[in-house]
Amino acid sequence: MNAIDARHVELTYADGTEAVRDVSLEIPEGEFFGFLGANGAGKTTTIKVLVTLLQPTSGSVAVNGHDVEAEPRAVRESIGYMAQETSIDGELTARENVRFACEAYGVSADDRAERIDDLLELVDLADVADKQAKDFSGGMKKRLDVATALVHEPPIVFLDEPTTGLDPKARNRLWEYFERINERGTTVFLTTQYLEEADHLCDRLSVIRDGEIVASGAPDELKARVGGAVLDIEFADADDATLERAREVAEDAAVFDDAEVEVTDDGLSVRSASARRNGTDLLVALNAAGFAVTGFNVRDPTLDDVFLAITGDGLDDEAAAEVAE
Ligand code: ATP
Repeated sequence: MNAIDARHVELTYADGTEAVRDVSLEIPEGEFFGFLGANGAGKTTTIKVLVTLLQPTSGSVAVNGHDVEAEPRAVRESIGYMAQETSIDGELTARENVRFACEAYGVSADDRAERIDDLLELVDLADVADKQAKDFSGGMKKRLDVATALVHEPPIVFLDEPTTGLDPKARNRLWEYFERINERGTTVFLTTQYLEEADHLCDRLSVIRDGEIVASGAPDELKARVGGAVLDIEFADADDATLERAREVAEDAAVFDDAEVEVTDDGLSVRSASARRNGTDLLVALNAAGFAVTGFNVRDPTLDDVFLAITGDGLDDEAAAEVAE
């Protein structure tokens, strides 16, 4: 049985916004699944359908074997959900917040004390268990949110952009807890706008754009589909006009016939099947054209390159379709 089985889900809001169009997902038990997309792509709407907060306009969804429309209660009892907005009460202590969640989820009185200690330990808040949550940092509040979503030991947990707005240190720390939760056997459904986060955590991911899934696979598979290598080039004078001229030279230089050239913050990023073999020829051509190259590096594609390829920003439609297959 799949932990999540969504078939041809569509969700149109009352004002006619088609937020989700024909989304199908099959997520096996125990998987760490990532749902990656830009602001407004449809991630939260999809999660809300999966956790029974919105009824799909069409299509069907089973979570833990329960149909979201026919058995919403059974679905809710078998999932943990960490929404984008915090659900903790600042006036309560960390322990009281978790206790409150235990009561709300009907955790038996006998199990509560141990469960609360375990969860506060899991998210490293045991030391501040009796402090009011309003004094916590953003990262600590998110960790407390994670703990409250897990009180009933759900086999699946949904995390909606859990690290948005956190500094890198707090984000890295949360990643550790998510990994721990997944290692305990919990299926994790995570939405994120951060490619690095998806790459670091997820066994498999789908990319959603304008309400539709445009690519799915393991992070390494998606990168392999982009193919080739990427040559990053830095210039001494990285003003917009210089970079634009450099881009034209790189595109016209007959070094690669398949090059995709992007302007970056301080230079160019050139992706090609032969970037490793012929990269130096391009550097020579740029030098000959009067550009002061101050650094370069050839690397494998990252999820960023996958994203660029999929969103068509830098690849033609045919190539984007190939990546998305
Ligand atoms: P974010 O990262 O901003 O949360 P998201 O990928 O989660 O983005 P959604 O919140 O699912 O995206 O929004 C998808 C689309 O639906 C957007 O165009 C959004 O403006 C629209 N939308 C969201 N909620 C509603 C609503 N209640 N009524 C009408 N349109 C909505």
